[in-house]
Amino acid sequence: MIQTDYIDVSVTLPLDITFVYKVPDHLREQCAIGMRVLVPFGRRRVTGYILGEQESCGPYKAKNILDVLDDHPLFPVNEIPFFKWVAQYYIYPLGEVIKTALPAGLDRQDVSCVFVTTSGITAFSTGGLAPGEAGVIQFLKKREGCTLKQLIKSSSNPSIAALVRKMEKNDLLTVSAILKKEIANIKREKFIQDLGKVPPDTIRISQKRQQILSIVRERQEVSMTSLKAHVPTAARLIGPLAELGYIGIVQRQVFRDPLGDPVEPDTPPTLTDEQAILIETVRVNRSKGFIPYLLTGVTGSGKTEVYMRLTADAVESGKTAIVLVPEIALISQTERRFRARFGEKIAVIHSMLTHGERLDQWRKLALGKVSIVIGARSAIFSPVENIGVIIVDEEHDTSYKQETGLRYNARDLAVVRGKMQDCPVILGSATPSVQSYQNVKDHKFTQLTLERRVNQNPLPKITLVDLKKYKDFRGTERIITPELAIEIRACLERGNQALIFLNRRGFATFPACKECGKSLNCKFCDVTMTFHKGQDIYKCHLCGHTLPASVSCPECNSKKIQNFGFGTEKIETMLKSMFPDARLTRMDQDTTSKKGSILKLLKSIRNRTVDIIVGTQMLAKGHDFPSITLVGVVCADLSLSLPDFRASERTFQLLAQVAGRAGRGEEPGKVIMQTYNPEHFSIEAARQQDYMDFFNHEVPFRKALMYPPFTRMIQLKISGRDEQKVAKTVEQVADILKQLLSAAPKIRETVQILGPIEASIHRISSRFRWQILIKSISSIHISRLVNAMRVHPSIKGIKQVTIAIDVDPYSLM
Ligand code: ADP
Ligand code: ZN
Ligand code: ZN
Repeated sequence: MIQTDYIDVSVTLPLDITFVYKVPDHLREQCAIGMRVLVPFGRRRVTGYILGEQESCGPYKAKNILDVLDDHPLFPVNEIPFFKWVAQYYIYPLGEVIKTALPAGLDRQDVSCVFVTTSGITAFSTGGLAPGEAGVIQFLKKREGCTLKQLIKSSSNPSIAALVRKMEKNDLLTVSAILKKEIANIKREKFIQDLGKVPPDTIRISQKRQQILSIVRERQEVSMTSLKAHVPTAARLIGPLAELGYIGIVQRQVFRDPLGDPVEPDTPPTLTDEQAILIETVRVNRSKGFIPYLLTGVTGSGKTEVYMRLTADAVESGKTAIVLVPEIALISQTERRFRARFGEKIAVIHSMLTHGERLDQWRKLALGKVSIVIGARSAIFSPVENIGVIIVDEEHDTSYKQETGLRYNARDLAVVRGKMQDCPVILGSATPSVQSYQNVKDHKFTQLTLERRVNQNPLPKITLVDLKKYKDFRGTERIITPELAIEIRACLERGNQALIFLNRRGFATFPACKECGKSLNCKFCDVTMTFHKGQDIYKCHLCGHTLPASVSCPECNSKKIQNFGFGTEKIETMLKSMFPDARLTRMDQDTTSKKGSILKLLKSIRNRTVDIIVGTQMLAKGHDFPSITLVGVVCADLSLSLPDFRASERTFQLLAQVAGRAGRGEEPGKVIMQTYNPEHFSIEAARQQDYMDFFNHEVPFRKALMYPPFTRMIQLKISGRDEQKVAKTVEQVADILKQLLSAAPKIRETVQILGPIEASIHRISSRFRWQILIKSISSIHISRLVNAMRVHPSIKGIKQVTIAIDVDPYSLM
């Protein structure tokens, strides 16, 4: 409950400041920090978050809040400084930071909806409209309550907004604000309670009702669902019983259950010496509060066991734990292992949950009903208090970086939140990011190491195959070399499983016209389409646009499109014909988009009902499949040529990780790595599984070119549909940056601006893209500069061109 008359509210709008509102007396009891409120803002109503109490409203008159939208806080008070830190560091509005942090679908606000007026209908049916106007009305007639945003988005007319305004003026349309409801809501159910009153014998009660009474009496309280299982008509029968006071009916929140099949409890194994020493180190340092650790342990060295012990320590001392895992596929594995150990103390948060399930998991945490959260990057915002440990598994993974909206890195935020909560943070990886390892070198992180695999097996032996040898071959050898084929055969004969890895999905990745030679490109993006044989279509992997397989060349109209290039689907087909008796499965984005399909696939691998698994990076990470003894890498070079200073790092990490999937059980593993660049240091270091070799090669490059971790970077991503307008805005932004720099000589000394340049994929989804890269050794200078640019009057007025600020960018394309 709020003690004061006023509250500090952050609204879900792109604004940097918070606002003071008055709490009317009748709402005071219901208000608490961390809850959502509905507030008037200008002429609209929007959602706001209560961030604090205020004694007075200052010189302005505060408006009343309209409603309280929660019955329990969605985040704890001590998370607010964390939100504020995030907003400042990532140069992003506070209200939108909180909105990003909370489960999606909780945003209630007025949205502008467009309606056709009676005179609009009349004008339409009498044909008295210009074609553009008629088009709008035609569109609106088909859908009720279309929002202005939807209308603008689905229209190909660049001046649709102006057209709507004109039509509104001419009374053909009205635009009015409608309060949008939240998509996610709390699920409630009726519970029937025993009130201890027994009906006297004089009253006649039907047999069914007698049955209900005896069930309720026996169990004291029973949910409607389980009561119906005994008495299907219970819903109709309980009313009179309640009226007579024999039973009570209450509404209670129930939690939707997103968890899969039940998991058998496990018994913790005896720790290896290495594990035991490492855990002791963390325990001894516990009283020191915040310490960031980098746990470097080869693949299969038992890192997950360490995570579970440290989590157990936290829970036993009455604290909570946050465990971050990169991929959905891996979450289900880690979740299983944690559930086997910790039972129902766990909440999971990731994108495969429905809005409602996600909200339920969130509330379980906010209400303190569970103490462990396992999740993808967004779980770093979990509403937990009193954190005992934060763990980031596979800390090098790029999926910790969000690439839209609030472009945060959950790995980095784990360290920030750990510092604020004064708890240890464990970043684990067999192939740490250059940045984290540099932090060890700079004594910012403490290193913990596991050098041996739990099963004492050596790491798998890796053989490189030079693809140049087979360049001029015409058959399958070009893709599945004889060296790899022999090993697959041997692996199958021993009854083991083989994993064939290629980080590119689809059947053919480079369709081109046989007549004119032009590649088949996406209409909306500057990339080639990919042929998907199973679905018999061409698909753009950037915007999702599809074309039928029978399409003719857009340049010369020829029907002869040839499908060059190969992806996982083609590898699967090739292997099927080479090994007709083997049971094959494929795991990539195309085969795992349906809910539950990942679990099914993983189960088939674990239960050994498949022999060969073809997959993308989804399979490369973290998984523990003891029967895989062979890993084949079809083409190790795919990520090497990307225009990105982290290309070598990504290549090394991916190859070392995928190699680490082999030989995790009794039998030793083997890896065949096919490559055009056997002499490249990333590939050689991956072959040796030698992280230090990679690191020592990579660091001089980064230093010489002044790249992270030796500088800080912010990338401005500028995009829009109108090519000219985007180019003009880019010039404008660059000019302002120059002006700001010349006015601030101190900042100028440390800051370097690269660009503007066109992005390497210049057009995606019909948006033209430009970039400006800003580097500096001073994080304060660089963020001051970008902040000053952002609030510059001439930038604030820019319309139809988006300027996204990416702090510590990952994707530079
Ligand atoms: P990593 O995460 O380092 O790749 P895992 O934690 O998956 O390694 O461990 C590899 C395998 O070893 C798993 O099957 C795990 O159950 C098992 N394991 C881990 N620690 C022990 C231990 N102390 N004793 C026996 N088995 C263990
Ligand atoms: Zn052609
Ligand atoms: Zn496209």
